[in-house]
This record gives sequence, C-alpha cells and structure tokens, in this order.
Amino acid sequence: MIGILGFVAVFGAGRWLGWPGRWVWLMAWGWLLVLLLAHAPYMPAQLGDFVGGEFRGWFVLGVLVGVALAYRAALRRVRGRVPEPATGAGVAKPVTFSPVELDRYARHIMLREIGGPGQKRLKAARVLVVGAGGLGSPALMYLAASGVGVIGVIDGDGVEGSNLQRQIIHTDARIGMPKVFSAELAMKALNPFIQVRPYHRRLDEALAAELVADYDLVLDGTDNFDTRYLVNRVCAAAAKPLIAAAITQWEGQISLYDPARGGPCFECVFPVRPAPGMVPTCAEAGVAAPLPGVIGAMMAMEAVKHLTGAGAGLRGRLLIHDALYAETRVIGVKRRDGCAACGGSSTGTDHPE
Ligand SMILES: [Zn+2]
Repeated sequence: MIGILGFVAVFGAGRWLGWPGRWVWLMAWGWLLVLLLAHAPYMPAQLGDFVGGEFRGWFVLGVLVGVALAYRAALRRVRGRVPEPATGAGVAKPVTFSPVELDRYARHIMLREIGGPGQKRLKAARVLVVGAGGLGSPALMYLAASGVGVIGVIDGDGVEGSNLQRQIIHTDARIGMPKVFSAELAMKALNPFIQVRPYHRRLDEALAAELVADYDLVLDGTDNFDTRYLVNRVCAAAAKPLIAAAITQWEGQISLYDPARGGPCFECVFPVRPAPGMVPTCAEAGVAAPLPGVIGAMMAMEAVKHLTGAGAGLRGRLLIHDALYAETRVIGVKRRDGCAACGGSSTGTDHPE
C-alpha cells in the first residue's frame, strides 16, 4: 500500500508544486528503485511487507511503464522529423526561442497585440534598411532590439565626425569606418541573437531589385531623392511594403507605402521630383539632433506593427511631425491615377466611380 501511496505522492506533489515533468519521472523511478530494493532477497521480509506488493509485480510495472515511455518518445521523434511544408523561398525552419531569448523578449511577449506568435513573426522576418544615417540609426537599433531575425543595411558612406550629432548608432572611435560595419557592431552588441547583413555599397537599380526581392519589408531613411524614388519603384514592382521617412531642420514625415495592398506609393503622394537643390539636405539646411531619433524610432515602431499585425499602420496615411511646435498631424493619402511607379489606381479600389 505504501508503495502505491509513494507514487501518488510524487505525481501529486509534482502537479501541485508545478515541478518539471522530468523531475517527477526521475523521482518516480527513484521510488520504484526503493520498492525493488525493499523486496530484494537480502532485505528483511518486514520491509517488503511494509511497502506492499512483491518484487516481480513492481518489476513488471517498471518494465511496462518504461516500454510505454520509450514508445511515446520514439513516436515524438518520428513526428518531429516530418518536414515542414515548403514555402516559396525554400523550406522554412520552425521558429523557436532559447530560454535566454524568451527572457530578452518577455516584455514583447506579454503584450496582447504581439505575444509569442508576434515575436516568432519578428524572428522570422527579414527587413532591409536603406541608409545607416540619422533615421537609420534608431530604426536599426530598435529593429535589432525588437528581435527582427535578419536585418540588412545598405550604405556606401563612412562615419564622419559631423554625423555624430544625430547618427547615434556610430561612435567617435569608429570615424572613418564604413557606416554599415559600424552599425553592425552596435546592433550585434545590443542583440547577438539576430543576423545583420551589411552591404557597403551605394544603391543602384540592379542591386536594389536583387536586394529587395530578398526581404519582407524595406525601410528607407536616405536623404537624397534619387535613392528614394528608386527604392519606391523597386518596392512597388516587387510588391514589397516600404516604410519611408524624411526629415529636414525641425520637421519629419513618415508613411507606409504599400500599393500591392491598396495604399499609395511614395510617387503617388510626391509625383513631382523637386528640382536639384530645391529641397536642402540635412547637410545644407541643418537638423535638430533628436528629430531623426523621433522619426527613425517611429519607422521601427511601424515596422514592428506591420510585421506582427498589431494595431493600425500608416498605409494610406502620412504622418507629419513638427518638432519646433510639438505638433503632429496625420493626413490621408491616396493612389494617383497614372502613377509611373505603381500604375496608379488601376485596381479601382480607391475611386468611387
Ligand atoms: Zn504610385
């Protein structure tokens, strides 16, 4: 009788106190060993009577349970080997987290809108950031901290002393280093669980098409119009969503351009490319140091929302932030008929007629 009560006590206590299954089974096997020893030939007969049962009975029970557990483990292993269904880009590995990663992302996972599934989507995501400058700095850091699995960054420049007033991913000691390698160092130092792909190149059309095809989402924080229109056209052609932002002096703007899913593209909203020299760059007009921090962090925020499906993004909406007067407004933007980049509203989704 005591023998059976022992098992009941082990499993009951395990359940009550929430012990890991492995501990409970280890203790159960230990108790079985005690019972078998109590019935061993050189033990006093009273001990065997005290725990109850007989040696052969406990032995057969142990063998039966052992066989059952081995069968279950083998079955699990076979099921685990069944290959995942192939996706477009090849065979997707199931996303899992180590205990250290679970601890790292705990405050994301406890958010109802992100949770475990959202964190897995972030880890499975591939995001390309164009430009490791003012907007790229906070965007890259927060993408890295958020646990985006693969982050590509392309920039042809090196770190200069005058960048450090706002490009906080770089450091004084890394002046002269290509920005993408400096950014990679900072991101990997913050989160070693992600993959960073630095491209120390200036973006051209062929490279843009090749790179964009390899990513789920593109963030553009460059400050020259040629690159911005190029990135937009390539993203529109590849049906990849684009989060693009721009800043000057005290004002910034950001939107999600996603013509493949009904929103306008960048060129729908800004069809006329400004004449060279008409819109000054940060280098020419100046910029308040924290402004790229505000807008760049918003880029990362919108990226996290887009990848996890949380909340409402900026598709079809342009957010304009005036830092000098602490004002933010959001205006609706629509696809434009005959847009050269995305083909305009040929789907007719945005027009009532
Ligand atoms: Zn367009």
